[in-house]
Amino acid sequence: MTSPLRRPLLVGNWKMNLTMVQSIELGKLVAGGAGAASGEVAVCVPFTAIAVVREVLRGTNVRLGAQNCHWEVSGAYTGEISVDQLRDAGCQMVIIGHSERRKLFGETDESVNRKLGAALKGGLTPIVCVGETLEEREAQKTWRVLETQIEGGLKGFAPADLSKVVIAYEPVWAIGTGKTASPAQAQEAHLFIRSQLKKIHGESFSAGTRILYGGSVTAENVDSLMDSADVDGALVGGASLKKDFLRIMGFQTAR
Ligand code: PEP
Repeated sequence: MTSPLRRPLLVGNWKMNLTMVQSIELGKLVAGGAGAASGEVAVCVPFTAIAVVREVLRGTNVRLGAQNCHWEVSGAYTGEISVDQLRDAGCQMVIIGHSERRKLFGETDESVNRKLGAALKGGLTPIVCVGETLEEREAQKTWRVLETQIEGGLKGFAPADLSKVVIAYEPVWAIGTGKTASPAQAQEAHLFIRSQLKKIHGESFSAGTRILYGGSVTAENVDSLMDSADVDGALVGGASLKKDFLRIMGFQTAR
């Protein structure tokens, strides 16, 4: 039986999209659908929209998050934002190590690890992203990549520190490409990730940690992905900017 700690979680990643007015509109749409959701719902919005979306979500059970943070609390880090600033602005979660940040902005397992420490210390729920590129998959390196990212990202924390951590398996070849991992591929990778969590911190940590799938999740494929025993939710980019996200929030499974 799935651990009650693994309540399904549906997260929208709005990336670098939307004006404040558009963010308010989309926030209202999500808030309006929250009552019919099949799990917890969160939106990770651009920094500029945090304050206005916070007001829209006030009194609802939709959680608010950001898409990145720095590991320091404050200081001379032009252009960066700290966990304390995010929490002060109303965030409860933060995405760490998204593949776009790894690929385009030089994020490494080491920076992921430092950011994770900052998020945990600052009381934000971290969503740590891992996933292989197409070249790595084709070269049969998927498991090695996931193992390295998990070990490097989670290094140095006790299981109790990591009780809030959420892992997102996001195969890079499926992000924004319209190519989704099949439910069997997702399940296989999630099971592998769970085995790595068990290797690091034992059975109860592994069984109680949520692992989300991300990569071209749509209103059409969410049900079959969520049917997999080790898929505990979804991290959704493109489809989270549309009405389709309401259908994703209300996924239905046979399990
Ligand atoms: C993402 O940005 O995390 C993502 C999974 O994007 P998309 O759903 O558009 O593939």
